[in-house]
Formats: sequence, C-alpha cells, structure tokens
Amino acid sequence: MLKIESIELHHVSIPFVNSFKFASGTKLDHSCILVAVKSNGLTGWGECPAFEEPYYTYETLTTANYILTNFLIPSLLGKNLYSPQDVMRYFTKVRGHPMAKAALECAVWDLFAQIQRIPLSQMFSGVRERVPVGVTVSLEKDIPRLVAQVDQFVAQGYKRIKLKIIPGWELKPIQAIRERYPNLMLMVDANSSFNLHHLPLFKELDPFNLLMIEQPLTVDDFYEHSLLQAELKTPLCLDESIESPSDVVTAIALKSCQIINLKVSRVGGITNTLAIHQLCEQAGMKMWCGGMLESGVGRAINLHLATLPNFTLPGDISATERYFAEDITEPHFYLNQQNSTITVPTLPGIGVQVQKDRLHKFRTNYQCYS
Ligand code: MG
Repeated sequence: MLKIESIELHHVSIPFVNSFKFASGTKLDHSCILVAVKSNGLTGWGECPAFEEPYYTYETLTTANYILTNFLIPSLLGKNLYSPQDVMRYFTKVRGHPMAKAALECAVWDLFAQIQRIPLSQMFSGVRERVPVGVTVSLEKDIPRLVAQVDQFVAQGYKRIKLKIIPGWELKPIQAIRERYPNLMLMVDANSSFNLHHLPLFKELDPFNLLMIEQPLTVDDFYEHSLLQAELKTPLCLDESIESPSDVVTAIALKSCQIINLKVSRVGGITNTLAIHQLCEQAGMKMWCGGMLESGVGRAINLHLATLPNFTLPGDISATERYFAEDITEPHFYLNQQNSTITVPTLPGIGVQVQKDRLHKFRTNYQCYS
C-alpha cells in the first residue's frame, strides 16, 4: 500500500535534432508535461505528450494541465493505493482526457514497480528483453530527400521504415522506396488525411507489399474503415481511432482493421493498455507500440509495454539520437543494429533516471501539489 504524498508537474520543452513534419504542421521541439508522483521517499514518473494544438487528438497540453490540476490531482492526493489499477477508480467521474489520466497513472505504476524493486515490464509479465523497433520518416519536400532519409535509417540498422503519406504524396514516394528496397519492411501512415473517395488509390497500393496502411480515414470512421479493409489485401491499422478498450471492441466487431497501433497515453494508461492487449490477443488482432515523440520517460514506458507477448510487430520507438541530442533521462536508448531492437531497461520501475540539471534547463513551468 502507498499513500500519494505529493505530485509535481514539470512542463518541459526539449529541442529535436531535426524538425518533424506532419500532415498538420512542423514540430521543432518536444513539449510535454512530466508528472512526478511522490511516496515514501520514492518518485514515480509519467509523461503527457499531448501536442500544443488539437490536431492529432482533441487533448492539448493546456487542456491536460487544466484537467490534471483541477480534477485528477485533487482526486488522487493523499489517497492510499493498494495497486496501480486503483488509480482509474478515482478518475471514473472525469470523461475523456486519456492523456492527462495516463501521465498520472503511469507514474503510479512506476512507483509500485520501484517499491517491489522490479522493472516495470515485470509488473505485467513482459516476455522480451529487447524490443523490435522501426523508424518513421517525416514528410519530405521531394523524392531525393526522402530516399536520402531512408538510406540513412537503413544504414543505421532500422529494418522497418514508416513513410507518412498525404493526398498528392503517396504513390510516387512508395514506388521510389519499394523499387530501391524490394524486401524492406515498409509501411505508411496517413494520419486520417484520406476518405473513401480515395479507394482507387488505395487499391493501387496493394501490389507494393506494404506491412500495413495506418489510419487512412477519419478518427471515428470505424464503419468506413471496415468498408475499405474489405476491398484491400493490405492490412489496415487503426491508430488515432483507438482511445479506449471499447474502441477496440468496435474495431474487432466491425473488422475495421487487422492491426492496432497502441499508444499508452492515448488510451488512458497502462491498465487500459493491458485490457486492450487481452482483447486483441483473444481476437487474433495484431498490435504494436506507437510513439508520440516522447522524452526518455515516455519512451522507457513504451519499451516496457512493448515486451507484452501480443506486441508482435516492430514499435515506433527509435533510438534517442533520432529525436534529441540531449534527453531529459539517462541512459539514452541505442539501436541494436544487428536485429533492429532496443534493449529494455532492467533497473526497478521505468529504469531510467530523470536528470535534475536537464529538467531545470528545459523546464518552462513548474507546479507542486501536496
Ligand atoms: Mg500514426
């Protein structure tokens, strides 16, 4: 049993090595809220990686901060917890806002794992010491620049490459990379930028032997995704659509996809992740662990979750150097080149240490509640 004694919110902004270009804009740094939950002289860490604009999900850093400080933190402070699963009971009155909830909930899981002196992955019987990973290439201005990016990542040892696609930037980039690398594990992510009128285009993608097409249609288009999937040989993967276990139930029932990209923040934390993992395992739905450009805190949590047995496809968890010259945690993560994996931390809890000097260096705001 532990009592939540105090909770700190550290707003940080960490510069990226290279900017990331998405369908919705360009990001130069990773801004997030790091949540520190304290009990018995120990500190558990979680991360809210919501973006600053409501383009990827409706949550933003501003809404997450509002929900954390006005509702979630007051409901948890001073409470006695017997297991990390207890956290969600205190959050049931708050509708939605999974990223705000997940940041706090993951920090409590870290605390419990530290108290038991075991790595986080052992709290839920993870089965891997090294996790297969891939890398995402951001939208490029032209094909030569895209090819140069992919060449660089393949040379680094990444065996699964994900290309971002938007209308007008689909067929040609895929063709270029597939011709150059006929056997590469290649997939594309559309971030909801297409609709069913693009069906002929998606049919043209079938011969390219893509590992999957991720989130082609709008977030709540479960039915439309099922219509598209029925027309294609290439597996569809839902990402943004999956915000809860019940979304997964819907996707399974409607056959909206064959693969789920699980992001722990977007589904509200580790307890919901475990529920989704079980649902997918029972339904024969493949899964992999996605990323939100997290700092070392969120990336460590992703690595632990990707040790779960049904996470059979490479995750979007790249080496630290893909994102930051200087991360907020030590040690940094490195790619094991021979098999495109990252080694899961073995120290108690999330297994990485937040560096106080960097926390101060990158911090833009700080709040403490006790
Ligand atoms: Mg995605």
